[in-house]
Amino acid sequence: MSELFLDGRWVPAAEGGTRSITCPADGSPVGTVAEATDADTLAAIAAARHAFDDGPWPTTPVRERAALLSRVADVLERETAAIARVEALDTGKRYVEAEYDVADVADVFRHYAAVGADADDLGDRTVDLGREGVVSRVVREPVGVCALVTPWNYPLLQASWKVAPCLLAGNTFVLKPSEITPHSTIALVRALEEAGLPDGVGNLVLGTGPGCGGPLSSDPRVDLVSFTGSLAVGKHLMAQGAATVKKVALELGGKNPNIVFADADREAALDNALTAVFLHSGQVCSAGARLVIEESIAEAFVDELVERARLIRPGLPFDEKAQTGSLTSAAHLGKVEAYVAAGIAEGARLRCGGRRPDDPALAEGFFYLPTVLDRCRSDMAVVQDESFGPVLTVETFTTEDEAVRIANDSIYGLAGAVWTTDDAKADRVAARLRMGTVWLNDFHPYVAQAEWGGYKQSGTGRELGRLGLEEYQETKHVWRNTSPAPSGWWG
Ligand code: NAD
Repeated sequence: MSELFLDGRWVPAAEGGTRSITCPADGSPVGTVAEATDADTLAAIAAARHAFDDGPWPTTPVRERAALLSRVADVLERETAAIARVEALDTGKRYVEAEYDVADVADVFRHYAAVGADADDLGDRTVDLGREGVVSRVVREPVGVCALVTPWNYPLLQASWKVAPCLLAGNTFVLKPSEITPHSTIALVRALEEAGLPDGVGNLVLGTGPGCGGPLSSDPRVDLVSFTGSLAVGKHLMAQGAATVKKVALELGGKNPNIVFADADREAALDNALTAVFLHSGQVCSAGARLVIEESIAEAFVDELVERARLIRPGLPFDEKAQTGSLTSAAHLGKVEAYVAAGIAEGARLRCGGRRPDDPALAEGFFYLPTVLDRCRSDMAVVQDESFGPVLTVETFTTEDEAVRIANDSIYGLAGAVWTTDDAKADRVAARLRMGTVWLNDFHPYVAQAEWGGYKQSGTGRELGRLGLEEYQETKHVWRNTSPAPSGWWG
């Protein structure tokens, strides 16, 4: 059984709770893990607080912290097969996709290791006041104890975007992964342990939000909450954190438009429109789930897209012929089915999918076929809400202005794409999209060097890049008077 990691030791849950994890692709058992309650989370916060206030980590030289991140990347790469295996079994994704995830995660650790490798500090500066007798310095310090809360779609990847910059900046943390996909995060914590992280710096609690998550946003000893997950839980954590004025960084949902103009490279746009929405069965925060396409090419384009979507082969994690995996839980499958039914009831036309596959080998899993709904309008729930499944909605436009208006008609603003061979048009549209990431003639790439995050209700703050480190820093102005003298103010 996998346990909690509190103050440098693997321990069972205080109340002895456990949870069985099963693979959503076939219902097979993956493992049993400890199930925490608030008492465990309070112990984790106490350990992180003590390690921050009294331990060596916050004042460990930046280069040494960076070297630890580099060792973590080494361990992750060495353990790729084992970690990818549990990631695939927990989530139902294909093993090969989980292998890509581990490589991406190692890259994130290597990126932040490189940022600190030759650094004496992480962004300190001296202010040039142009006068004698004063030295004014702005120094960047760790925020303190960070609560890191992650979702089930990319459990390891989302944890890495938080853990690597959090540690480089000198913080301590309590990490809580999704209760349904804990195993790859447990492997990450084992890698931190092997790399030599001091006791109490990194703590792991396993369990549900209501069961053990409460203190993460309410306890005054926590300085920052960094959350990736749903809009509803993000709002709740932000409200909870307000009572003690915590810093709150939120990476929430998206309902991302993929805009295709008539002059786009048709083959590239078609192929990428499939990847945009059907990668990982649509369980991607930046999935291109809204096809916004120019009226003049829409019919033929969507006909071809539907033909290709019908050929996508779902399968089990280790089936080398599979092209996509299952959804990650029964509850999530039910939600996707309900959104598709609601879309059809509101007037959308089902072009393909809209049901579970017939293959008896997949009957025990939470599979859902790639689904295309055309004749959609922006006011439909299936267009506005994040179904987070393999469901593409199609809306059409006739002018550039209309394309922008439809694309921005969302409470979310995470990502979007523009397909056109007219660079000036691409730039004009990109400038008007209210989103944290815009791809021009591409979909999905992200890099550790560039910021990731959302406009509007897709979140606050940024992960990755320079700002992804600054989220974990406080700023202090240190003013030194080098020739103190009476001020003369009082006469
Ligand atoms: P979720 O909000 O249900 O859960 C996310 C995490 O929050 C889990 O660990 C859960 O246990 C925890 N949680 C729930 N209630 C809590 C509480 N009261 N206190 C503390 N923790 C609590 O999200 P999910 O269903 O796991 O993930 C899917 C969502 O994540 C989607 O909306 C998706 O768009 C979003 N997401 C966003 C990004 C991004 O970069 N913006 C990336 C991946 C996923």
